[in-house]
Amino acid sequence: MDYYSSHIKNLIDELCRLPGIGSKTAQRLAFHIINQPEERVERLASAIVEAKKNIHECAVCHTLTDQEICPICSDPARNKKLIMVVENSRDLAAYEKTGKFDGVYHVLQGAISPMMGIGPADIRLKELMVRLEQPVDEVIIATNSSLEGETTAMYISKLIKPAGVKVSRIASGVPVGGDLEYIDEVTLLRALEGRTEL
Ligand code: ZN
Repeated sequence: MDYYSSHIKNLIDELCRLPGIGSKTAQRLAFHIINQPEERVERLASAIVEAKKNIHECAVCHTLTDQEICPICSDPARNKKLIMVVENSRDLAAYEKTGKFDGVYHVLQGAISPMMGIGPADIRLKELMVRLEQPVDEVIIATNSSLEGETTAMYISKLIKPAGVKVSRIASGVPVGGDLEYIDEVTLLRALEGRTEL
């Protein structure tokens, strides 16, 4: 039996598709939105649409940006020969917050996961290889310490070591299965400083 009008049900269904939103939360959010003044709801809707329309991957590092080349890649003060490989833009932001890394990033936009059917061709690995055609001093692999993150780290190391590029992995100060974005800056820095060559 449908308790709600189709418009409310539609809104709840759409909210339910968002990660981490169960049906109870979706209902709560839907009613919250409906109780807001119309102009505030329009601001929310247009913020979502505008973000989607204007944000794309940086042509160099593949982080999400609204410019052709992101501010980090276009900063002349950053060391372009030191590349930190991360899974997503949230992990990049976590390392940026420490303010201690002066290299550049490569954002994979995912991690290898045979269980989810995500293979090496589904993340930005080809793009990393293209970048390595330029001289690079070190590639720091800072994927998460989940099964997917470790699989990805191993794969990248096997792929690029034969090219004679120095490859290191951040220390396991990061708890197993821990998402980089939730880890405090001190732990992140310790993991970076304690990195070991692969
Ligand atoms: Zn970039």
